[in-house]
Amino acid sequence: MIQNKSPLKVDLRSDTVTQPTPAMRAAMLAAPVGDDVFGDDPSVQALQARMADITGKEAALFMPSGTQSNLCALLAHCERGDEYIVGQLAHTYRYEGGGAAVLGSIQPQPLTQGATGEMQLADIEAAIKPDDPHFARTRLLCLENTWNGHPMTLAYLAQATDRARAHGLATHLDGARLFNAAVATPEAGADACAAARRIASYFDSVSVCFSKGLGAPVGSALCGSQALIARALRWRKMLGGGMRQSGLLAAAATYALEHHLDRLADDHALAQRLAQGLAGLNGVTVRSAQTNIVFIDVAHGQGPALLAHLAQHGVLATGLIGLRFVTHLDVNEAGIDYALACIHEFFQAHAGATPHAQATGPAVY
Ligand SMILES: *Cc1c(COP(=O)(O)O)cnc(C)c1O
Repeated sequence: MIQNKSPLKVDLRSDTVTQPTPAMRAAMLAAPVGDDVFGDDPSVQALQARMADITGKEAALFMPSGTQSNLCALLAHCERGDEYIVGQLAHTYRYEGGGAAVLGSIQPQPLTQGATGEMQLADIEAAIKPDDPHFARTRLLCLENTWNGHPMTLAYLAQATDRARAHGLATHLDGARLFNAAVATPEAGADACAAARRIASYFDSVSVCFSKGLGAPVGSALCGSQALIARALRWRKMLGGGMRQSGLLAAAATYALEHHLDRLADDHALAQRLAQGLAGLNGVTVRSAQTNIVFIDVAHGQGPALLAHLAQHGVLATGLIGLRFVTHLDVNEAGIDYALACIHEFFQAHAGATPHAQATGPAVY
């Protein structure tokens, strides 16, 4: 029997909930800073140079959030009346407030995605409009990797971006979890940075989050050509993203790149531990368990009850019918085992209901 007042708190809502470690905080405190709007912050400059190098692009720009980074990318690639091809469930289309349409007059052309996030090549091709005044100008293909935790194969990335380029489209990757993809794509190479560069090589621009699995408190980077980043800098300023002594934040991101890259594999192992602990449990179907994200399906109406039960025991997750659990640097094996015990306890008390297969995932943050 699990104690009601548990000493454990296991927050599996997202990999954004991590606390900066003492060593990361020390790196932030020690960071040399300047006014980055004047281009004077050495810690921001160093991070940008490192990210350009890692992703194999000419330049990089530190951003307050992944949303602003993706938005600046879309605004830098597209003009008013252009359109971009994007997954129906992609973050830039679905979870960023429609910013590209609101602020850029950029029309999204959303396409259906398969269970692991890929749009079919034939659908991409069919969505590219001819040069005709009836149509918006199709300008950009936007992919997301990982998508709901799924890493995409290099073959798919190559084929999709080749197809786009053949029609004169630019390509952007929402790589909020690029490094999770890198660590989980052995064909891209054993070194996480080299693998990230390989994935990025298919795209004109890549956005990467430091505030997800890397464990930094704030920030993303947009990486691309000098010309693209110059346009993105103007948009970032307009969007209010010009920051001053932001080297404090950049130092945390640099620390994460130096110390938290290879440990992403530990998060992936924890997700597998969770999925394996749920396998065969009556009432639960593990829908997917890739990289650091586990989705489960439960019976209609049971999701909120399970979430409430877990919360009562200090275990936090998100979802409704499909529940999402995300592993990260502030979770360990004991925490996962405890979460498993809480889930098992719930289903011992609520046996017999059949999980409801769900077509779309819960909100992704
Ligand atoms: C988190 C995330 C973003 C950006 O989110 P912010 O909260 O704005 O930093 C973009 N794309 C994906 C796929 C994400 O998971």
